[in-house]
Amino acid sequence: MTLSLSTFLIGLILLLQAPPAESAAEPEANWYRGNTHTHTLWSDGDAPPEHAVKWYVDNDYDFLVLSDHNLMQQGEKWFKVEEGGRLTPSKVAEVETDFGTEWVKTRESEGATEMRLRTLDELKAHFDKPDAFLLIPGEEVTDKYRLAQVHINAINLESSIDPQHGDSVQETIQNNLDAIQAHGKATGRAVLGHLNHPNFQKSLGATNLANMKGEHFFEVYNGHRSVQNEQIGDRPSTETLWDRALTMRLRDGAGDGELLYGLATDDAHDHYAADAVSVPGRGWLMVRAENLDADSIVSAMKRGDFYASSGVELEAITFDGKTLEIRIKEEPGVDYVTEFLGTSEGKGDVGTPGQMLFITNMNPATYTLDGDELYVRARIRSTRLHPRPYAEGDYETAWVQPVKP
Ligand SMILES: [Zn+2]
Ligand SMILES: [Zn+2]
Repeated sequence: MTLSLSTFLIGLILLLQAPPAESAAEPEANWYRGNTHTHTLWSDGDAPPEHAVKWYVDNDYDFLVLSDHNLMQQGEKWFKVEEGGRLTPSKVAEVETDFGTEWVKTRESEGATEMRLRTLDELKAHFDKPDAFLLIPGEEVTDKYRLAQVHINAINLESSIDPQHGDSVQETIQNNLDAIQAHGKATGRAVLGHLNHPNFQKSLGATNLANMKGEHFFEVYNGHRSVQNEQIGDRPSTETLWDRALTMRLRDGAGDGELLYGLATDDAHDHYAADAVSVPGRGWLMVRAENLDADSIVSAMKRGDFYASSGVELEAITFDGKTLEIRIKEEPGVDYVTEFLGTSEGKGDVGTPGQMLFITNMNPATYTLDGDELYVRARIRSTRLHPRPYAEGDYETAWVQPVKP
């Protein structure tokens, strides 16, 4: 039997049109837990870096950024060991117990004992384990304009970035964001900058967040007790700043008009107490990435494929352009309330930033956009108290990133 040319051609066209089975499937993705903001003795933290990192390894984190002020953990640095100092003999003894006496390098200098601080490369060689734990290089670029503190964490750097300064608060922010972006371009790495603790010393306002260009990340929750996440007096909460900034960006085209994503971080400095000004374990990220490598994690964050948490864990977040669905990983005996927040141009208090659009205790929690919303984001609050709270009485919470129709 002969195959006619037309039958052959139709068959060929059908063959070419049929999508290969594998490309139709979503790439494998996992949730990775990490913190992008922690300090060590390399700047103003109270612990040798290996002590700080060990806590995160022991407490089920997948990645960590040591974000010391204006430096990376590179080169030779010796730290004085003294009673009453930041590095005491008992802290050194604890490192010897945890890591072995061979690990600890000390010397005598002008009558004092000093310990050499381990570098990021040494820490990575010790702690990084494929698919289990990753140290991502980073720095808290620490700048200011007059009284305004401008702190921006730069994630996945190859080398440190100096504060860039500027002639206004906004210019100071943007010059540092531009330097972070330029570093990414020059090195070919996926690099990200997140603006930290806007309310710290009443430094930044919603317009500052709104006008950021090129990078769209800020800390909606920072675990350091002096940064003021909550509303005090006429100073709005960081969540209100978020809603106002999102509204300015999406309605008025402020900044580059892109969504603004919120992070939760520790900003830990106090590594020897369960309850102090800034302890590890208060706020973290859950990032849905293909692999536990820095490029994969940062790229996922740039897609908005992550949420911020102070305890609530989610199984899935899906958005098909119309319906935002959140599946909560429920803990026994704990209840959850999901609030969908956004700015609607068509209903409720029209145009008011961050209205409550829908509240539910269902799981999954879903909200279908009617198209009048500039954006919708979600906050899930549990009835379980945070074991290491920023403020007494804090309940575990998760913040889902905004989506737009
Ligand atoms: Zn800071
Ligand atoms: Zn910090």
